[in-house]
Amino acid sequence: MKDSNCIFCKIANGEIPSRTIEENDMFRVVLDVGPATKGHALILPKDHYRNLFDLPEETAAEAIKMAKKVALKMKDKLGCDGVNIVQNNEEAAGQTVFHFHMHVIPRYKEDGQVIGWRPGQPTGEELDAIAEELK
Ligand code: AMP
Ligand code: ZN
Repeated sequence: MKDSNCIFCKIANGEIPSRTIEENDMFRVVLDVGPATKGHALILPKDHYRNLFDLPEETAAEAIKMAKKVALKMKDKLGCDGVNIVQNNEEAAGQTVFHFHMHVIPRYKEDGQVIGWRPGQPTGEELDAIAEELK
């Protein structure tokens, strides 16, 4: 299923031109137009899913396989020193385009990018309580 108002549906299905680096039946992989680093790519399913919460398990499994393929290609062709896989779900988590996508971000020593978080300092008891909540 596609969403006629969704820009990533249009890109994934070739209705809007993109800089495609990989494609198969399920996904198109395109360069991000606001890249964190050289080669930053987005894995876009051709069907519309808002985010991880409604992504079918099979699509999720195939997406990580595609991420691995793209990461290896970045290492081989761009000579990157590492790769971040980033995937945001809902506004609170930084999602801005509401069509599931996985960022594959090549990293280069001293590229100066910051992709991360400020680590908290919970007590052991606090961690135990959270683990209980999540079991
Ligand atoms: P997120 O914040 O995880 O929803 O990421 C959305 C990403 O989509 C951002 O990194 C944008 O730079 C990227 N983006 C938005 N519009 C386009 C577009 N038309 N083509 C390629 N990338 C896009
Ligand atoms: Zn869509």
